Amino acid sequence: MDLQATTIEGRLTEFKSALPEDVTLIAVSKTKPVGDILQAHATGHLDFGENKVQELAAKYEALPQDIRWHMIGHLQSNKVKYIAPFVHLIHSVTGLKLLREINKQAAKHDRVIDCLLQVKIAQEDTKFGLSQQEAFALLSSPDFADMKHIQIVGLMGMATNTDNNDQVRAEFQSLSDLMKELKNQFFANDDHFRVLSMGMTSDFRIAIESGSNMIRVGSAIFGARSYPSG
Ligand SMILES: *Cc1c(COP(=O)(O)O)cnc(C)c1O
Repeated sequence: MDLQATTIEGRLTEFKSALPEDVTLIAVSKTKPVGDILQAHATGHLDFGENKVQELAAKYEALPQDIRWHMIGHLQSNKVKYIAPFVHLIHSVTGLKLLREINKQAAKHDRVIDCLLQVKIAQEDTKFGLSQQEAFALLSSPDFADMKHIQIVGLMGMATNTDNNDQVRAEFQSLSDLMKELKNQFFANDDHFRVLSMGMTSDFRIAIESGSNMIRVGSAIFGARSYPSG
């Protein structure tokens, strides 16, 4: 959408009013100052995403406690402890070792942490994620069945950064198909497994057409980032 508004509040409100009702917007605030997040929060928006543990933890400390923080970036096991007390949803689970650590840290805080499995759908080596086979293997593992402090609520994926819309659509569709297969095989009686996190500023429309119900959008709301964010 071509947003007319010039303020963060205006862009966010305009953006959300154009989204289908069942699509949750995560406002990706990485690299942006807390003042920008406060402006977005002033509209009543509560879901924000960050991709670095340190930045996420610092912003959590500095900002209103009703914010739901989403960890959307690559997560190392040894850093889980810094976000375990408060994180709302971890989008980037890429293996059993990481999941075990999330389970362990969540137990310390008497929490059940919601997680998405990040699946690699892009033709890019720089993107992290499980293969489809690895996702099946993880969910079949007896280890997984024993973890009481995590809950897998869906999948996350990032499409290739390309102008080729057909390729982007095919990649999103593959994740949408996998979601249905995993639902049938592992979560047929589990209503929590329903989140399909895919789509960012450049490709959220295609993602929604392909079945996404959670989009992660940064630059369209907060403006272009002025320095690299990993
Ligand atoms: C930065 C980031 C986004 C948002 O990117 P924009 O192009 O600014 O919308 C979404 N998902 C992940 C995992 C990111 O790191």
